[in-house]
Formats: sequence, C-alpha cells, structure tokens
Amino acid sequence: MGAIETFNFDLHCHSTASDGVLSPSDLVHRAAANGVSVLALTDHDELAGLAEAAEIARVHGVRFIPGVEVSVTWGDTTIHIVGLGIDPANAALATNLEHVRSSRGRRAEKIAAELSALGIDDSLKGAYAYAENPSVIGRTHFARFLVECGIAPDIATVFKHYLVRGKPGFVPQQWAALADAVAWIRTSGGRAVVAHPGRYKLSRADLRRLLTEFKNVGGEGVEVVTGSHSPSQYGEFARLAREFGLLASRGSDFHGPEESHLDLGQLPPLPGDLTPVWHDW
Ligand code: AMP
Ligand code: MN
Ligand code: MN
Ligand code: MN
Repeated sequence: MGAIETFNFDLHCHSTASDGVLSPSDLVHRAAANGVSVLALTDHDELAGLAEAAEIARVHGVRFIPGVEVSVTWGDTTIHIVGLGIDPANAALATNLEHVRSSRGRRAEKIAAELSALGIDDSLKGAYAYAENPSVIGRTHFARFLVECGIAPDIATVFKHYLVRGKPGFVPQQWAALADAVAWIRTSGGRAVVAHPGRYKLSRADLRRLLTEFKNVGGEGVEVVTGSHSPSQYGEFARLAREFGLLASRGSDFHGPEESHLDLGQLPPLPGDLTPVWHDW
C-alpha cells in the first residue's frame, strides 16, 4: 500500500473566512468525519480561518496544512494560485493579501449596480448578508443571493448566466501579479500550486505559457485531481504535470454541503506515477 491509500489528502477548501458555508471548525469536523487525514484550508486571499482550523484539527488528529488561495491576474485572465504550508504569522503575506482584498468592496458595488440595471435590487446588501467576512466579499456571495431571489435554481446555474465574462454582473478586476503571488507564498515558507488549471478556458498554447512562466517564477505544483475538474481533465493535467516536472496536488475545492459536487476527502487518488506535492512532508 502506498501513501495515497494510507493517507487521505484534501489540500483545497473554503470556510466562512472567505466564501465557504461552514466555519473553520465545522469544516474540520466534516473533513475528519469523511476520513481526511491531511487537510489544507485555502481561503481566498485570507488567513483569518487558519488558527481556528488548526486548533480543531489537533483535537481530531487531522494533520493541518495552513494554506491560502491567491487571486491573480495573468494577462486578462483570473488565475488562482494555492499556497500550501505558508506561515499564517508572516506579516508580509498578511499585508499583501490585505491589499489584494482591498478592491473587493468597490467591485461589489459595481456588480450590484450592474444587477440593479437588470431590475435585481438590493443585491449589495443581499450579498453581504452571506459574507461572514465582509473583506472577502465576492461573486459566490452574490450567487447565493441570486439563488435566494429565485433568479437561478443553484449556484452553478448562476455562474452560467451571470457574474462571468460576457454576462451581466461581471466586473473585470486587477488582482495580484503571478510572480508576486508565488513570491509571497514562497517567502512565507509555502509551496505554490496552480489551482484547477482546467477552469481557465485558456488555449493549449496559453496554458503551456502559463505553466512555463509559473515554473520560471518559482511555482512548484499543479492541481490534477480537484472537484473543479472533470475526470477526463485528471488525465490531461496529469500529463502536463509530468511534462512540466510539476508536483501534483489533490483537493476538493469544497465550499459547502449543498454547493459542491465533491465532498471533503471524496476524491480519486492521484495517478501513481506523479510526484505528489506532499512527497517530502
Ligand atoms: P471571486 O473571487 O469573487 O471572483 O469569486 C470566485 C469564486 O466564485 C470561486 O472561488 C468560486 O467559489 C465561485 N465560482 C466561480 N465560477 C464558478 C462556477 N462556474 N460554479 C460555481 N462557483 C463558481
Ligand atoms: Mn470560492
Ligand atoms: Mn479557485
Ligand atoms: Mn477554491
């Protein structure tokens, strides 16, 4: 039996510190109940949930990896970079993330103005009602409000018709630069991983350009098995991990029981020949 069978790694999920539904404690309880043995909490641009999650993980005997998912603008594409094993007490990382978060409030106002022009009123207040941490106000909170209003049956449907490029409620945003995000993660002791590369709608050439640039600035890993990939994409990104010599990661990207099709820890194993991002942990 290899390490993959012995340990259940889930290295990507969200709590109420960003756009997840469960508190850090409830998230760790659920992960433990699902048999996760090594868990990373990776809230968007935010470290606030890590201390609570680490504490509860200790109680459950779950090994906890402090993480973060940094919003990055690469060209005109939003990319997410997961940092694993970062130091939650690193002051520079905290300050830089605070700066990344700082534009979210203004963006939310613009999103609400667009929705208002469609006759959807009070979405700013409605979205903030779902944002336990208002400094990370984002599209998921708007999506929950749009479901509440009956505008779409579920979050996934919202993101087909609203809040994405070319649809109402999309507001272009300048997030962190790729090289900066990777540097912040590395400087705080973490390992940088490209989150769900299959989600970005990049051409094959652009995807390769992204991975090349990511490696050149010190990035080390790529998510292969993630709740944001289809099973056929597991194979596609396993091949790219091999070709680019990137470490492979596995994470559910769980946001909440009713919202995520893959629960915490409920993922197939990584293809056995890949080097996992946890190989030296
Ligand atoms: P933001 O950082 O405010 O742009 O919000 C990004 C978040 O929106 C992602 O982390 C997801 O939680 C959510 N999201 C984006 N696209 C989709 C989608 N197609 N289906 C479900 N959730 C999505
Ligand atoms: Mn999210
Ligand atoms: Mn993401
Ligand atoms: Mn995520």
